[in-house]
Amino acid sequence: MELNILTICYLIGSVTFILGLKMLSNPATARRGNLIAATGMTIAILGTIFLYKDDEGKSLHNYGWIFGGIVIGGIVGVLAAKKVKMTAMPEMVSLFNGMGGACAALISIVEFNHLTENFATNGWQVLTGENLFSHLLTIYAGAFIGCVSFAGSIIAWGKLNGSFKDLTFKGQHILNLIVFFLIICLIILLLTPLFADNYNFFYLIPLLSLVYGVLFVLPIGGADMPVVISLLNSFTGVAAACGGFLYNNQVMLTGGILVGAAGTLLTILMCKAMNRSLGNVLIGNFGGGNSAAAQGGSGGQYKEISVSDAAVAMGYARKVMIVPGYGLAVAQAQHACHELEKLLEEKDVEVKYAIHPVAGRMPGHMNVLLAEADVSYDKLLEMEQANDDFKTTDVVLVLGANDVVNPAAKNDPSSPIYGMPILEVEDAKLVIINKRSMKPGYAGIENQLFFQPKTSMLFGDAKSVLQQLISEVKNL
Ligand code: NDP
Repeated sequence: MELNILTICYLIGSVTFILGLKMLSNPATARRGNLIAATGMTIAILGTIFLYKDDEGKSLHNYGWIFGGIVIGGIVGVLAAKKVKMTAMPEMVSLFNGMGGACAALISIVEFNHLTENFATNGWQVLTGENLFSHLLTIYAGAFIGCVSFAGSIIAWGKLNGSFKDLTFKGQHILNLIVFFLIICLIILLLTPLFADNYNFFYLIPLLSLVYGVLFVLPIGGADMPVVISLLNSFTGVAAACGGFLYNNQVMLTGGILVGAAGTLLTILMCKAMNRSLGNVLIGNFGGGNSAAAQGGSGGQYKEISVSDAAVAMGYARKVMIVPGYGLAVAQAQHACHELEKLLEEKDVEVKYAIHPVAGRMPGHMNVLLAEADVSYDKLLEMEQANDDFKTTDVVLVLGANDVVNPAAKNDPSSPIYGMPILEVEDAKLVIINKRSMKPGYAGIENQLFFQPKTSMLFGDAKSVLQQLISEVKNL
């Protein structure tokens, strides 16, 4: 009877994960989707803790450890999530993902120890033939993928918060390949009867995998970090699915597979948004910010516009398009931005937002930011649609965005961002760029858009500039 209730708990968990994931694909339903999936996860966890029975009919007993872990982890998680700034969200995602990888790897290590203890007392016949092979393979795969995900995510976290720098050296990719093949060879050898008495070599798998995770992420340029984080996220999902196989736990398996598949799809979509192949992201090191142009301001003459002139241009326009970028998030200017939008609409100006898929520092960064300020979703245009709309736009207001509007992506084959689809703001009649200086953005490259005749620079912190624009527009 209890087992049946547990199966129903798992079914509820699996269905809510799928529903939640579906709802996450739309900003209007994302929050609810997250809650639904979290509720399903809670039901599945509580069901496992209280209803699970092993083959001998024994329930879980170590409740002190289980609830101790849940309370400590829960407090740390809630505090971290409440304290994190919107700009530091990718770091947190990376850190949490690393913890998932570590858990999956630890499951494999613990299960390996159980298995070898069992062998010592009962002999090899406890698991035989195919069963032994698949059990060991799942343990090795979980340890390998989980450790790569853990070590890689920690390096990604350190790089995003500035603690670690990109590290490249000659022969790096060869070294990575050698470590990778060593791990694969070790796994194959440990699956053969040859190694039946030398199972302690197993511990080399997590060890080498940690080394591989570090080596794999260290050279990848900062601007490619979200792609790597998403890839590592899919690794964690696969490692968790290995745990699901080991414990014959359907909900863990479903959750792991869903995370693995979602992470893989997101990785592919992000590569597409940057027009780069995954191989290019992993082997090239774009976005380290070391280029000569990184100092900025050497590209020629630019012109400035005053706040009052910018307010007049927008207040009397028919159509204004706002392009939000990383600087908007840094300045926490989303609420001021929404206020300006409402004021302009009161003056019969049509206002829309052009959202580039990699604007900001994480996928969906701008959508989340603007949703926080209650900007209506139907005002957010995706890149393709926005690019059609720029031709009929009077004024584009670029707020703290840089790389995502850099025409070098289209015109300069030597540029590191060449080929990345961009918002073609120069198609509009007037382009006003708000930033604090002529310094470059994340990719560390100069932006020729700033020097074009139809572009005017409006220097200052995005929030304070928007507040000044609001009072000017009110007086029009
Ligand atoms: P960029 O980093 O290219 O440019 C942001 C600009 O904002 C800077 O040039 C900066 O100029 C300006 N800025 C900073 N602070 C403020 C402020 N307080 N007020 C006004 N302006 C400010 O950002 P984009 O959003 O255009 O492009 C995103 C870049 O980040 C791309 O290269 C992308 O690949 C990369 N990336 C994207 C991720 C994602 O998943 N979305 C994750 C990681 C990287 P100044 O200093 O002069 O003010």
